[in-house]
Amino acid sequence: MPLFYPTLYRRRITDITLEDLNQLGIQGLLLDVDNTLSTHGSQVLDPAVEAWLTHMRNNGIRLTVVSNALPRRVAPFAGKIGLRYIAFSCKPSPVGFLRGVGRLGLKRKQCAAVGDQVFTDVLGANLCGIPCIQLEPIQLEKGKPTLALKRAVERWIRKRKKAIRIAQK
Ligand SMILES: [Mg+2]
Repeated sequence: MPLFYPTLYRRRITDITLEDLNQLGIQGLLLDVDNTLSTHGSQVLDPAVEAWLTHMRNNGIRLTVVSNALPRRVAPFAGKIGLRYIAFSCKPSPVGFLRGVGRLGLKRKQCAAVGDQVFTDVLGANLCGIPCIQLEPIQLEKGKPTLALKRAVERWIRKRKKAIRIAQK
């Protein structure tokens, strides 16, 4: 199931460090929005996330937003953080990610997709050979049965990954 495993797990976007990126040779990030940069559907920008974005930019990391959400959700948020965006990107289809890579002017292996969902962010990145950093969702979505089911499968995949790692030691 390597298609469902990320290159790196981190809890929050703010836990991703320049050292992490240097170690992986990453110079650009393709950022998901919902439950990655903000909670689901929210336009609120956490000051810690804003500081992290500034820190990354100041250190030469190229950033762009790649989200499956509609432009009316993504555009105001991307404007707030001063980034160009690709909305309705149809992840896990490689289309949006590859457009994002082209926009950053980097090679695929020099970029990483950052997101919280296995079946869009992780799978999509793996399908087009882009490294991926999977985060924990900031806040679980309420009243969305399909997403709740996806989250349960994601937890199972992650547990299985841990089990494999322990078995290999
Ligand atoms: Mg998301």
